[in-house]
Amino acid sequence: MTHTIGFVGLGNMGGPMAANLAKAGHRVTGYDLSPDARQRAARHGVAVAGSAAEAAVEAEVVITMLPAGRHVMECYWELTEAAPSGALFVDCSTIAVGDARVAADLAHTVGHRAVDAPVSGGVPGAEAASLTFMVGGSDAEFAEVEPVLAAMGRKVVHCGPAGAGQAAKLCNNMILGVSMIAVSEAFALGESLGLSHQALFDVAATASGQCWALTTNCPVPGPVPASPANWEYAAGFAAVLMAKDLGLAADAATASGVPAEFGRRAAESYAAFAQGEAGELDFSAIITTLRGDGK
Ligand code: NAD
Repeated sequence: MTHTIGFVGLGNMGGPMAANLAKAGHRVTGYDLSPDARQRAARHGVAVAGSAAEAAVEAEVVITMLPAGRHVMECYWELTEAAPSGALFVDCSTIAVGDARVAADLAHTVGHRAVDAPVSGGVPGAEAASLTFMVGGSDAEFAEVEPVLAAMGRKVVHCGPAGAGQAAKLCNNMILGVSMIAVSEAFALGESLGLSHQALFDVAATASGQCWALTTNCPVPGPVPASPANWEYAAGFAAVLMAKDLGLAADAATASGVPAEFGRRAAESYAAFAQGEAGELDFSAIITTLRGDGK
């Protein structure tokens, strides 16, 4: 079944996601503040609106893919007013659990349905329609959104009520941030002990140190040809976004009284690392700060 979809936020992730919806036969009208993003989307089958509200005005489904919570909150006032009653709101941005609940409440109050549906898989996953979606909402809302998300992803998981998708996303990225630092520290130590990158990789990739940060996004060049370390950490998952996600996880830990000591330390390390130009590098570039005086 195809839908009329309004899509707001056509950036690195939203652009290819909207393009995949259009490719699947949905009628997609998109909007982004950036003229470049609008032009790129138009080349991929997305009808471009003159404002966010205009993109939502006929939409059965309204999808947002925006940088942070404040952008979502700002847009939701406008979008929930503009959309036809009973529209299904789907926020795919990574934002705080509390903000996701407030956004869903706002949509519900004016007669819409709403889910949070943040993603994992990065820009390659958005382009290949192989994202993982983590959904927070009622059973009925999940049943409606699942086929729409399936056009942009490979796995759609119902995590619980409103906010549960963001909770899963923050917990997952806390694992990722901590494990990337652990893998990077292991390579730094291995180097100083005279161990080659390949030897450490060959052992850890098939031993108990195995994890995504090692086997897919390896922070040293060589063992994993597609990892950003092979091209000086350009592109990939920006350190500044990892710093944002770890900050949200640390705030959630504080709000719920969980120590999350290593998650908080990872948040501090990434916040310091992501300042300035390094923020645009892949998050695995944090290894460059972990080698100590000898390198
Ligand atoms: P991006 O900065 O490339 O895209 C965001 C887009 O939103 C921009 O094009 C910007 O112009 C637009 N925008 C901002 N405010 C707007 C408004 N009021 N109206 C219309 N458009 C507006 O960011 P991205 O990499 O696409 O990430 C989007 C979200 O997805 C973030 O929350 C991020 O944390 C999350 N995410 C990103 C990745 C990744 O690898 N890039 C992976 C998983 C999740």
